[in-house]
Amino acid sequence: MKKWAPLLMMCAACACTATGGGESQPAAPLGDKYATPMGEVFVYPVGHGSVMLSWNGKTIQVDPYSKVADYSQLPQADLLLITHDHYDHLDPAAWKKTVKPTTHIITTAKVAPQMDGVTPQVMQNGEKTAWEGIQIDAVPAYNIVHKGPDGNFFHPKGEGNGYILHFGKFRIYIAGDTENILEMQNWAGPDVAFLPKNLPYTMTDEMFADAALRLKPKHLYPYHYFEADKPALQKAVGKDIQLH
Ligand code: ZN
Ligand code: ZN
Repeated sequence: MKKWAPLLMMCAACACTATGGGESQPAAPLGDKYATPMGEVFVYPVGHGSVMLSWNGKTIQVDPYSKVADYSQLPQADLLLITHDHYDHLDPAAWKKTVKPTTHIITTAKVAPQMDGVTPQVMQNGEKTAWEGIQIDAVPAYNIVHKGPDGNFFHPKGEGNGYILHFGKFRIYIAGDTENILEMQNWAGPDVAFLPKNLPYTMTDEMFADAALRLKPKHLYPYHYFEADKPALQKAVGKDIQLH
């Protein structure tokens, strides 16, 4: 949180200039700035499972959730990614605010028919596509341990998507609700990764650290958690991974 404070203050200052001074100066995008071969990308953890990326004047929203932000106050999506159909990821109150006529939507076969009035692109685990020159991979996201009272996994294999966005060689992995699945080794070494942590739906601290060590991201954002002991997590994942 501490890191974002100057950015937020900067945004507030820009907004003042824009409204008060008459000389419009666009507010700096929210989040942490990364240099990529395709230009700067701003990575903003909105809260819980929601992430916003800003790139080249465009906004990518992932799993917008009204409980963590007022989406009428955030930029609308040029690209909207939804990982699966749980209410904290597929929230009509939020995605309807973030969608505009030109928004491209990518989601799963189970989610698409639940989104009324729009025509999302469906991606299965393992498929690749491209949007505005960004390669997007849909990757598996599922439980291998945690099951609900009905005996079924909270996230059955093949149902949900994680997404990897390639800004040239710079890769951002947003895992969705998953555990420390072996497949993560197949896309190891992303520049930025979001991995979920919470019980009973996703990972314990130990599973989170195991996933991180398998994945070896340069920058790691824990998300989807209720509580996180970040110093302990940083120690568990080692100093080659920068925890945010
Ligand atoms: Zn879920
Ligand atoms: Zn969730």
